[in-house]
Formats: sequence, structure tokens, C-alpha cells
Amino acid sequence: MFESLSDRLTGALKDLRGKGRLSPADIDATARQIRLALLEADVALPVVRGFVARIKERAKGAEVSAALNPAQQVVKIVNEELVGILGGQTRRLQFAKTPPTVIMLAGLQGSGKTTLAGKLALWLREQGHTPLLVACDLQRPGAVSQLQIVGERAGAAVFAPHPGTSVGGAGGVPITVDDPVLVARAGIDEARRKQYDVLIVDTAGRLGIDAELMGQAAAIRDAVSPDEILFVLDAMVGQDAVATAEAFRDGVGFTGVVLTKLDGDARGGAALSVREVTGTPIMFASSGEKLEDFDVFHPDRMAGRILGMGDVLTLIEQAEQVYDEQQAEEAARKIGTGELTLEDFLEQMMAIRKMGPIGNLLGMLPGAGQMKEALAQVDDRQLDRVQAIIRGMTPAERANPKIINASRRLRIANGSGVSVSEVNQLVDRFFEARKMMAQMGRQMGLPGARRNNA
Ligand code: GDP
Repeated sequence: MFESLSDRLTGALKDLRGKGRLSPADIDATARQIRLALLEADVALPVVRGFVARIKERAKGAEVSAALNPAQQVVKIVNEELVGILGGQTRRLQFAKTPPTVIMLAGLQGSGKTTLAGKLALWLREQGHTPLLVACDLQRPGAVSQLQIVGERAGAAVFAPHPGTSVGGAGGVPITVDDPVLVARAGIDEARRKQYDVLIVDTAGRLGIDAELMGQAAAIRDAVSPDEILFVLDAMVGQDAVATAEAFRDGVGFTGVVLTKLDGDARGGAALSVREVTGTPIMFASSGEKLEDFDVFHPDRMAGRILGMGDVLTLIEQAEQVYDEQQAEEAARKIGTGELTLEDFLEQMMAIRKMGPIGNLLGMLPGAGQMKEALAQVDDRQLDRVQAIIRGMTPAERANPKIINASRRLRIANGSGVSVSEVNQLVDRFFEARKMMAQMGRQMGLPGARRNNA
């Protein structure tokens, strides 16, 4: 799921890399590519329109973070907007104050309701609940026995009348088993009697939306007053998803959406549209036929997955956290004028290292998978030594490394527990790097360098 969308979005954002500043034309071009990517992924048109308009607006606006370059800023904006259309915060299941909590499942036939009932039961059991599955899909042949099978696999009890027998209603009144409303009610009684704390009510679906289906689901709803009604949506159905979701919203109503079959290779637009169109959050995601292929839906993680940016987003957040604007501006100015000192270098290095071990930071970059060997050679201990050497210098030496003559080098080496050649290497490399950075600074138009040229 989302593979081609992911490819196209990352492609659009990649084009921005290395740009020092984004022109309105750059932003328009990127917005166009994002729009195409979403449309191609089957995202509903009104959702695409809103999304792209917000991205453009924000990218053009003054929302400039000094910690990030323009490309990173756009990645951040796209990510935030993706999280937004996926629902923002993770929405947790609401439990009733007095058990049993009643969760009703609704959706088209084949959307994955029965499978979901088992997944949800297993998940709830893992959280210490005792769920009871209630078989109210009495239409689809085999639905009851299918629920019994998934219930058994999930280690959860199933309340399912055998066809042709009657189940005891409240007060022992016999009820006919072909009436799902009565089965649902009897299920609640059973849960109360046997102290199950969550009731999961599986209902019948049809291949398409029809009035009878909606009527029956609404009747079950009225009979059991669910705490949650989960609309189960097959993420593979494409554009139809929106119409189906709207029909269930109007016919039955629901408090949350469960996306199923996220493991499929469809384009995934349904997933991206349903929250925005129905205004109801996605609560769970199912991504396979096994009961374990199931989890709470986290909008932020899903957005990260769609953007396919590894942990680059985490990196962006961390950069913003440790970033000291004044310090960085000063460093940029000094780089441009060739005034950078070892003191500045130490400060910058320490700021970067606040974000964690260097190997980890590099590992968060996309494509890091192929850089494993190189990463293995990045050794934090080497950086510790560099830090120790600089710390062994006097303030005067850090500010003006040119005064570091042979006798000073010997003293620094002894003081920081390294060899003289390591000190030599550091100082020589520093001069080289400073020269190179000043040249680059002039090319990139850093503030100090511009002034120098003026
Ligand atoms: P129901 O008619 O809504 O109860 O749907 P079912 O639970 O019977 O599911 C229909 C089919 O979809 C079954 O073959 C399930 O094994 C399959 N299925 C359900 N959820 C998933 C999922 O997340 N991924 C995949 N690949 N298949 C699923």
C-alpha cells in the first residue's frame, strides 16, 4: 500500500533538495507534483484540493524555521498536513463506565469485519480484557462458524446461536435465532451474566449499500446502544470507499473507522480520504490475514511511512530542538569570513552530538541501509578525542589556532592524553576545512561572505 504514492511524494520533495531558497515557481511545481501523486493514489478530489492549498499557503508563508533548510521545511509541512488529514492525534477506544463496553462492527460484506472481530478480541485480551464475540451476521452462510473459528484462535468466547435452536432472552423468553437484533440483546445479557467486559458485535454486510442492510444495522445499534461503532473499510476499494463511508455515516453512524487490507498493493487513496470526508477518526489498521496483523492506527507513523523518509522527520524535530539560532548565525557568518575558531567548532560539534550518537543520526537518513559499512566506521570515540584535544587548549589557542606552535602542541597532547601527531592532524585539518568552508560560504552566499564580497 502507498508505494507509488510514497515514491512520487518523495520524488517531488527530492527535487527541492540543495536549493538555498524556494521561489514561488519551485513551490508551485512541487504542489503540482504532490497534487498529481495524490490524485493518482485515488485520494478524493476535495481532499486533494484542500491538502495542496494548505501546503502552498504554508510553504509560501513566513513560516520559516532557521533550523531547517527550505527542502526540509517543505517535508515538515507535507508531513504535518498528512498527519492532519489522517486525523492528527491517535484516537483510543472509549470504554463504558459500567461494563460491558459494546463495540459494534459495521461495513460491507468482505470488508473484513469477522476477521477484525478476532483481531480486536486478541488485542483486547492482551490488554487484560475479557471480550465476548456476538455473531449477528446471520445472513452470510458460514459467517457464524467463521466467527467461532476466529474466536477460538483469539482465545475469546463466542455467543452464537445454532440455527434452528433458540437462545434464552431476558427472563428466559425463547427468541428466534434468525433475528440478529434479538441475538445482540441476548449477547448483552450473556456478557452481564458471565462478566465479559467487552462485547464485540459482528453484523451482516452486503456486497453493496442497500436500505435493508442499513435498517438492520440501525436496529442492532438501537438494541445494544454501542459505546463504539466501528465502520470497517477495505482500503483496496478505491474511490467507492468515500460513497460507502458516507452511506454508513448517514444510515448507521459510526464513531471510528478501521482500515483493513493495508497490506494490499492498491493505491490507498481511501485511507487518505475517509477521515477528512466523514470527519470520523481512523482507529485501527489491519494489514494481513493473521490475527496479529493489527494495530492501533497512529496518524503520525502512517504519514512517516507514506513519506518514506525513514526517521528523517525525527531528525528534523531533533535539529529544531537543539538548534540555537544566534549561535548558528554567528557560526555561518564566521564561516563566510574565514574567522571560524576552534571554540566555534567545538560548540557546533557539541550541538550536533546532543542529538545522540553520530552513527544513529546518520542511520536515520533515508538510504542509510546501503551505507551500513560507512556508518560502522563513524566512531563516537574519535569525536570524544577531538573534543578532548580542543578542551586541552587555552581560550587563546582556540580563538586563534595559528599560535599553536610545536611546544603548545606537545603540551596539548600531554594534557589530553593523545599523541602529538593527533593534535597536528586536528589543527591542520581545521585550517584546511576553514579555508574550504569560506570558499563554499562565498558560493552559497552566506551572510558573512556576502559582506566580505561587498
Ligand atoms: P466480512 O464479510 O466483513 O466479515 O469479511 P471477512 O472478515 O470474512 O474478510 C473477507 C476476506 O478478507 C477474508 O478472506 C479475510 O481473510 C480477508 N481479510 C480480512 N482482513 C484482511 C487484511 O487486513 N489483509 C488481508 N490481506 N486480508 C484480509
